[in-house]
Amino acid sequence: MKLVIDEHRCKGCNLCTMVCPYRIFQEGKRPGPRGYVIPALDQPERCTNCRLQKIYGRQLCGMCQLTCPDQAIAWIEEKPYEAHKVVIEY
Ligand code: SF4
Ligand code: SF4
Repeated sequence: MKLVIDEHRCKGCNLCTMVCPYRIFQEGKRPGPRGYVIPALDQPERCTNCRLQKIYGRQLCGMCQLTCPDQAIAWIEEKPYEAHKVVIEY
């Protein structure tokens, strides 16, 4: 699974940057298509949902998605040929 921000929905409120326990969401610098500054993702492969959601068959953290007032955060399937890194933190 891959963490994505829908840049057409995001209004740059940065609530996601405050709730992520891994600080994966960081304040962004670049405006999106609607002119709002979209958060940047810092090593999103550290997200517990990205790593383990499929194995457990359910959402594990999801705080960012629950908090986002614009439903701009989602996880999408990665294509089989897409290179992806997995980071395990203890
Ligand atoms: S699901 Fe949890 S760990 Fe993953 S990005 Fe969202 S708040 Fe962070
Ligand atoms: S909480 Fe949602 S709308 Fe707000 S900055 Fe994060 S992704 Fe964008």
